[in-house]
Amino acid sequence: RIRPEVIPAKEINVTFADIGALEETKESLQELVMLPLRRPDLFKGGLLKPCRGILLFGPPGTGKTMLAKAIAKEAGASFINVSMSTITSKWFGEDEKNVRALFTLAAKVSPTIIFVDEVDSMLGQRTRVGEHEAMRKIKNEFMAHWDGLLTRQNERILVLAATNRPFDLDEAIIRRFERRIMVGLPGAENREKIFRTLLGKEKVEDGLDFTELALMTEGYTGSDLKNLCTTAAYRPVRELIQQERLKDLERKQRVVEVQNKEDGTEER
Ligand code: ATP
Repeated sequence: RIRPEVIPAKEINVTFADIGALEETKESLQELVMLPLRRPDLFKGGLLKPCRGILLFGPPGTGKTMLAKAIAKEAGASFINVSMSTITSKWFGEDEKNVRALFTLAAKVSPTIIFVDEVDSMLGQRTRVGEHEAMRKIKNEFMAHWDGLLTRQNERILVLAATNRPFDLDEAIIRRFERRIMVGLPGAENREKIFRTLLGKEKVEDGLDFTELALMTEGYTGSDLKNLCTTAAYRPVRELIQQERLKDLERKQRVVEVQNKEDGTEER
């Protein structure tokens, strides 16, 4: 049977300090995750209900996985990363057993954050035409165990999930995520913060203008900024962006030239 990998809190290599910007998201996660996992006693009275499901949604590369890992570390929780491939098995009937095993394992190493990456592929639309029977079973099994967490409040397990396609999730799943947090593209101010975080420990050109860098990278995700910094390591970042822009221009010019040529050929 496939066994999902458990990362104990002390072995998680990402902290909140490594994440640039996203302050409000970090704060919300701290409130929602820390209390139920670290102080379950506060929920005994019944007035406060612990949150058992949080959905992070937004474009790829905006830091959702990173946030999930960092919050697990902060909360001292084990981190289990699951995806469709962790659950599916070539043996008929094994998928549901894998789901059961996942929750048993989570309870054993609790407090635990079960992180479902690309949740839409595992728990997507139930009504989709032609949906595989096996998929339906995985989903139902997952939901049943997840619901069980609500009745067994001393089990300190939380399901955190990420998706780029929130609209592919059906009502039943959306409802179980008591909190849905959008992780969007960073604006200029936040790109500057991300640059500062990424380059905080690097040797950079004296007087490097972070504000200007942020203005030059409109539309970049956190992941794009990380890639840019990695590529630019030990080279002035600014120079690289200029080159990238030139290349982009050249590329666009080439496309236009090719198109013109093709149009010309067709006419002949
Ligand atoms: P996907 O939907 O593709 O899985 P994601 O939203 O989960 O993407 P991550 O995998 O967390 O994004 O981000 C990819 C990488 O980009 C991270 O490992 C990190 O290096 C960098 N990154 C993204 N956002 C930030 C940020 N706010 N601060 C610092 N680094 C970031």
